[in-house]
Amino acid sequence: MTHTLVSFSDLRTAAYCPRKCYYQRTLPDEAREPPPEVESIRALATRYEELLEASLDDLEREPIAVSAVRYRERLASTRRRLEAAEHWERLCDPDDRAVFAVGRHCRGSVHKVLADPLEPVLISAGQPPDTGVWESQSVHAVAAAKALAWQHRVRIERAWLEYPAYGVIRSLELTTRRNAQYRRALRVVRELNGPPARTTKRSKCEPCEFAADCGVKTRTLRSLLKR
Ligand code: SF4
Repeated sequence: MTHTLVSFSDLRTAAYCPRKCYYQRTLPDEAREPPPEVESIRALATRYEELLEASLDDLEREPIAVSAVRYRERLASTRRRLEAAEHWERLCDPDDRAVFAVGRHCRGSVHKVLADPLEPVLISAGQPPDTGVWESQSVHAVAAAKALAWQHRVRIERAWLEYPAYGVIRSLELTTRRNAQYRRALRVVRELNGPPARTTKRSKCEPCEFAADCGVKTRTLRSLLKR
């Protein structure tokens, strides 16, 4: 049986909430483009050395999510850790950027591609979890690694997530668990033919832009209704 290629964005959303993926797919392509502020945050990931040299006043004017002092400390500590492991330079000066990868099952844009070994980097405009990466981002990263691996006919064991608004960079291994999460999301997207059940993790509904369509009463909606 042949399948059409699934987009990275659908996989990421399906891993977050299958129902959200259903709603997202009803939107026109233009409405699925990230807002301009996302691009300006992602651009920070091309300027780390410059940001480390910037004055605190200049840093405050950047789209960072923590204070300039905290940002500088965090980014400097990220650089120390990654320099020691010989990854800093390859992350700052990747082999390629904004690569459209087409794999056997999925396709989408990879923000940076590192060489020797070949590894994908995704840049998140959001906040990192306390440790590791969010599951939806892990699924996206595995998808990017699989697409690149398919194109280049090599194995890829690791992917990276950058959170430039926070000065944080994390790597993730493509473990059995992560691969299983990816396969589950792929199955969900392929089998979507009506709105699936709502997520049981209601904390995910608070920031969801489809809460009203979905019929979930978030705190924001509840407080509006009380007025
Ligand atoms: S409101 Fe909650 S259940 Fe509904 S689509 Fe969004 S995340 Fe999923």
